[in-house]
Amino acid sequence: MLKRVKFGLILLLIINLLSVWSAQAALWINPLSVKQGEIVLVKGLYYNFGNAYSMLSDCQIAFEGKNYLFAREIVDFQGFESSGGTYGFQYTSRIPTTPLTKLGDLPLTLKCPLGQEKFSLKVLSGNFPVQNIVLTSSKNSLSATEKETNAVKNAINTFTPFKLWDSNKPWLAPNKARLSSLYGLRRTYNGVLAQNYFHKGLDFAAFTGNPITAPAKGKVILLGKEKEGFAVHGNCLFIDHGQGIISGYLHLSEFNVIEGQIVEAGEVLGKVGESGIATGPHLHFGVYVNGENVNPDNWLKFAIP
Ligand SMILES: [Zn+2]
Repeated sequence: MLKRVKFGLILLLIINLLSVWSAQAALWINPLSVKQGEIVLVKGLYYNFGNAYSMLSDCQIAFEGKNYLFAREIVDFQGFESSGGTYGFQYTSRIPTTPLTKLGDLPLTLKCPLGQEKFSLKVLSGNFPVQNIVLTSSKNSLSATEKETNAVKNAINTFTPFKLWDSNKPWLAPNKARLSSLYGLRRTYNGVLAQNYFHKGLDFAAFTGNPITAPAKGKVILLGKEKEGFAVHGNCLFIDHGQGIISGYLHLSEFNVIEGQIVEAGEVLGKVGESGIATGPHLHFGVYVNGENVNPDNWLKFAIP
């Protein structure tokens, strides 16, 4: 684990060197090039438009048809006093990409009350494998109930102002079993690519009853129960880690927490099962950034600020 942390720190250092710092604009975009499933951080305090400026708290980032908010963060500026700044905070917006994000140079637009500024973000392929599924029956025709769809949609789009996870270390794996399916896997059904499908998390090949633990501090915001209509996700739970970052756990057999509970990293959340649509017992673990399914693997390998 220590090796992983070191590697993550070195990687972040390299990313920092590659990122753009414009003193005039006072905006960091970090990194400028991502693989599908990774996130981009946009940081700063304000942005200059001629002689006037907008605080980033009043701005949003537009990317691929969605708008992203800035969250206020307390920053340790120790050693930076000579630069004239004594602020103890800055604003951060986290922009997600997924296997469905277009490739190439995409516009990323800062929208403020005083104006707009366009930047460019390069999106590289995540090289996700494609799995061919031959459909012989309508076995998996079970679909999500409206209640389930709405509750999950609300949970993953939760945005609360305070960061609860520790950005100095990678998240803990929520289960110890080996991975049986990776994030981003695409599918063809009888040879035809499913346009909107990708595997939205990591699958841990655990046995029924194995503990599922919190990867980082957060607040339990949804417990979905199969018997109450969660036909697809099965027994599931979602944790709000703050600032638009949510994690999700599907197909549980048992819950060990209640809605509204604050959990610490490593705390037991529930037990592995095969409720909902599952071909066998496993834990499906997802990480959502502002409503989009990003690659959880990055969160388990690197400290994400
Ligand atoms: Zn899965």
